[in-house]
Amino acid sequence: MLTYKQALDKVFDQISLLPKLEEQVNLLDSVGRVLAEDVISDVNLPPFDNSSMDGYVIKYNPDIRAWNVIGELSAGNYQEFEVDYNKTVSIMTGAKLPKGADTVIPVENCIISGNKITVSENYALKRGKNARLLGEDIKNNSVAISRGTLIKSSNISLAAACGKSFLSVFAKLKIGVFATGDELVSIDTVPVNDQIRSSNLSTLTAMVNEMNMEPVVFGFIKDKLELIESKISQALSTDIDILITSGGVSVGKFDFMQEALINMGADILFWKVNIKPGKPFLFSTFKIGSKIIPIFSLPGNPLSCFVNFQLFVKQALLMHYGIKSTNHFTAKLKSSAQKGDNKLHFTMAESSFDIEHGYFEVDSAGSQSSGSMSTMSKSDCMYLFPEELTMLSKGDWVECIRI
Ligand code: AMP
Ligand code: MG
Repeated sequence: MLTYKQALDKVFDQISLLPKLEEQVNLLDSVGRVLAEDVISDVNLPPFDNSSMDGYVIKYNPDIRAWNVIGELSAGNYQEFEVDYNKTVSIMTGAKLPKGADTVIPVENCIISGNKITVSENYALKRGKNARLLGEDIKNNSVAISRGTLIKSSNISLAAACGKSFLSVFAKLKIGVFATGDELVSIDTVPVNDQIRSSNLSTLTAMVNEMNMEPVVFGFIKDKLELIESKISQALSTDIDILITSGGVSVGKFDFMQEALINMGADILFWKVNIKPGKPFLFSTFKIGSKIIPIFSLPGNPLSCFVNFQLFVKQALLMHYGIKSTNHFTAKLKSSAQKGDNKLHFTMAESSFDIEHGYFEVDSAGSQSSGSMSTMSKSDCMYLFPEELTMLSKGDWVECIRI
């Protein structure tokens, strides 16, 4: 059976063939999208030498510690002053430095008397202190934000300062989703007898949205070979880039997904991965001319379905766009854990930050039954329980993936 790494490599081989089309979006709609252009600055940042403190601006001379105040400058209200040794201008944060000046003494280090100031005895003067120089953050015409950056609110300031009210980002991939199961009813129905609400369809749609991709929902169908075949055919006849299915990939008598895919002409790349939950994951592709549609067939158990999406769909797409920060972190385990197999376990868990010691701690969020939606709902991460181990002790360091 494939290891997680082997399976992910096979998935990525196919995902990396997907097109990377580009589109323009408003700056404020770009958060969560992947930048498809290098953002080039059309100005120097800062655009002029300016003060980083409220204080007095001087022309540095190590031997001078007293000055005459000849005026005042605040941000956006520049006036010409000629600052020479012995002269100073009162200056506010962000104000452009006057001609000749290079250094700012913070107001709290000055002794003011009328229109004269002296610097406090213990203050060490240094040329250039508290002055921010033209272009020291970003030079005009240079790359401010690189193509392939996952845009966060922390990028917006720089993009805006570079005059970008629109950004080119990679277009959303269209991801089709459908579920299978005789037991399924829609979530706005009250289930009776052995029915259950098709929660996976909502989860999958939510995860696609969360990745800033476009979900195309094809609903759910019964466990009938012909129905599954015609649903696959319906989905593949649209312009989707990826297809995700839920249910019917185990070894039950009514698990028809693999057979249906084969009948429809899909190439099965692998079935089953040495992980828990989500072992029965089935991965195939469908060729239409030169287009290849990767098909992720996930188990119906809600936790398996969720974890498979995180491990394969999300991970492979992040790799496709070259996004390095994949939400991996290490944490100290809060309670011991055991397992009796050689699978790689992804334990749904809750993390917390220990401020006193400066590290993350993590604990299982409850029952790891693959049907446990309450555990899933409480979790903010998964921790990895490696193949070769059967025991983890309290205090062990474990790898975690934020979800
Ligand atoms: P399957 O993978 O089809 O064998 O389903 C495994 C388990 O997941 C069964 O208990 C199903 O009732 C449940 N299940 C299947 N499909 C869904 C779905 N769309 N939403 C929630 N649970 C499901
Ligand atoms: Mg089923």
